[in-house]
Amino acid sequence: MNFSCLHQQNTKFNFLSQDEMNSLIKEYYEGRVAMTVLKAKYNLPINSHFESNFPWKKSEVVCDLCSTQMIVVPHHRDRNPNDPQCPNCSHINKENCRCKTCCEVEYQAYLEDRKKRDELILNQLILEESQKIDFNKLTSEEKISLGILVRDMSSDYLTHIVPFRTKENWKYNKSFVLPLVKAKILTVHPESDYDHISVKKNKFKETILTVEFHKMKWNINVYKDNLSNLELYNYLANTDDELKLTRDEIFLYWKKIAKDEALKYFAYNFNTVLNIEFERDFAIENLLEYLTNHFSIGQIYNLIWKYTNNTLRFKTEQRVTKDHVSNYLLKCIKNEAEKIIQNHYKLEHFGKPKYIQDSSFSDFFFDYILRANEQGYRITPLEIFERYKSESDETQDLGEFKTVGDYLNTFKFLSVNKESFEDNGEDDLPW
Ligand SMILES: [Zn+2]
Ligand SMILES: [Zn+2]
Repeated sequence: MNFSCLHQQNTKFNFLSQDEMNSLIKEYYEGRVAMTVLKAKYNLPINSHFESNFPWKKSEVVCDLCSTQMIVVPHHRDRNPNDPQCPNCSHINKENCRCKTCCEVEYQAYLEDRKKRDELILNQLILEESQKIDFNKLTSEEKISLGILVRDMSSDYLTHIVPFRTKENWKYNKSFVLPLVKAKILTVHPESDYDHISVKKNKFKETILTVEFHKMKWNINVYKDNLSNLELYNYLANTDDELKLTRDEIFLYWKKIAKDEALKYFAYNFNTVLNIEFERDFAIENLLEYLTNHFSIGQIYNLIWKYTNNTLRFKTEQRVTKDHVSNYLLKCIKNEAEKIIQNHYKLEHFGKPKYIQDSSFSDFFFDYILRANEQGYRITPLEIFERYKSESDETQDLGEFKTVGDYLNTFKFLSVNKESFEDNGEDDLPW
């Protein structure tokens, strides 16, 4: 701890008589006589910091801590005079005193504050956990995401989900995890590092925690039948076997993954190749909704790659606005996609570009749910449809419908997931 102590008075001027010392001090402070002149006149052994060799003065003031009569240490003439200081305990009678006692008092107050704050956080986290969510009410998307998290990121003893560690890693997986956090299916585990949680009170005096998501351990805040925590983790780890996912559920989750991968590639191409700040909007969402009804992720990469290059030329030659560039790119991709579908052209599958970071969710989904291993990026919607034909879905084949998307659009849901529009750049979530 950095506290200030009173040093000893120096004795280099002790050879001076009392009168010589008095007149030296007077000439130094009041006369402001040059130090070289004083040095020569009094035969002083040093060139500077004369004040450290002047005698300390007794003060009228006594120490607030130990009642000793305080002293005043002489100051350099270019600075402000020093406050009276206690020769016994080094205290000065001011709030900003840094003596050992004052530092210790401050440290104890800090520990006390911290203890109170930690208790507040713990209570809030326990409160969150006490309102568990019924597993049977989760959507299939939530169930699959949860299963992937348990498989990929459980702690050794299956007590919690381990932190994502880096901001980057959180960012790459956020579109799968944040919906779980918002739905309170995942809550911050009480054993998280509280240094990365800040506490505020809102106007209703309720505790608001703001967390750094990537540093948190996560608690799975659901209950299922009478399963213990350990049994729940084991159950969730076998998502595909236990949940008996239907074709539509798998297809919808695949779409989520495919859109997420395509968005990352779009973001890279906008930011790095076209040099335009990427913004997620309805036009992009609509295009991805369309593409993921027809093409594999690898084929979508192919389209984005090809038309980013065309757009770069267009941008360089035409000197157009940012919106114009973006519209041009999306329109080219849409036109090409329509042409391919209409004429049954073959479109090559590209591998995942190296500069796009892996996502635990897509890797896991391809390996363990689709069991496609390295081929995950080549799977088309039609292949998913055919592969899961034997499931209990009523309609066994596409019949008059050309694509899986047409089929699903007509029969059931396929509403664009509104959640996915919201690009939540915030890394903190207040409770
Ligand atoms: Zn004292
Ligand atoms: Zn003090």
